[in-house]
Amino acid sequence: MTHEIFYTIILVWCAIAILSFFALLFIPAPYGRHNTKEWRYSINGAIGWVLLEFPSAIAFLFFYLAADDPTDFFSLFFLLLWEAHYFHRSFIFALRRKEAAKPMALVIVISGIIFNLINGSLNGYWLYFISPGYPKSWLYNPQFIIGVALFFIGFGINFVADEQLLKLRRAGGYRYGIPNGLLYRYISCPNYFGEIIEWLGFALATGSPAAYAFVLWTCANLIPRALSHHQWYKKQFLDYPEERKAVIPFIL
Ligand code: NDP
Repeated sequence: MTHEIFYTIILVWCAIAILSFFALLFIPAPYGRHNTKEWRYSINGAIGWVLLEFPSAIAFLFFYLAADDPTDFFSLFFLLLWEAHYFHRSFIFALRRKEAAKPMALVIVISGIIFNLINGSLNGYWLYFISPGYPKSWLYNPQFIIGVALFFIGFGINFVADEQLLKLRRAGGYRYGIPNGLLYRYISCPNYFGEIIEWLGFALATGSPAAYAFVLWTCANLIPRALSHHQWYKKQFLDYPEERKAVIPFIL
């Protein structure tokens, strides 16, 4: 594939992300609290989660294995970051939430598989077939250092915030409650905030246009969902904290 074709695909991919953002503002993705009876065909939520997330790990790994020099430090390092995230999301996270997992609409599973195959492939293809590679000095470049730091900070925020929700869920007899503590004091969805920071960190560390497109997609998926969650909390709990924002502390 020529570079021109690849970058044209990235532009189209970004345009679809922007369209999805507006669509999701009006129609929340039908899983979790937003899965309604209108979406007739659903499968077990925990299995759905594994099926839809795992293709991203496979697609990225495929391009890594096909690369010319897979032993290069940066090739291996970015592979490890990607695979660690998706191993956690596909298996550990799915298992942690399995006893309370709601059915997931089939449309989410299918669109998630397609999204993850494309996203994992674009990111793997750019890193292993288009990128000119990284000199050793990239290791000391502030863009790389800040990017890697943001990746781990975002991962930590996301992990802790998801854990707080799952604890609240177990303590409340598998009902929804008002999450409190740490970043929940400022926003309704710190898990989404952490996820956005994590992928922004990956994009900075790699300098990959495919990774920046993924940041756009993460915002397109998670900002409308955070706004829907925030509205849902306010309707559901009359004592929901007034000053709390949806996803970006003090701003949105
Ligand atoms: P949610 O915050 O909607 O839910 C996370 C888990 O906590 C679910 O099991 C949910 O149950 C439960 N839960 C949520 N709120 C409460 C509450 N107030 N009380 C009790 N239990 C609660 O996250 P998502 O399911 O949308 O996403 C899960 C993870 O996947 C997140 O970390 C997110 O960042 C990531 N993700 C990333 C995307 C990307 O584009 N990069 C896209 C989508 C998700 P239930 O499911 O029954 O509502």
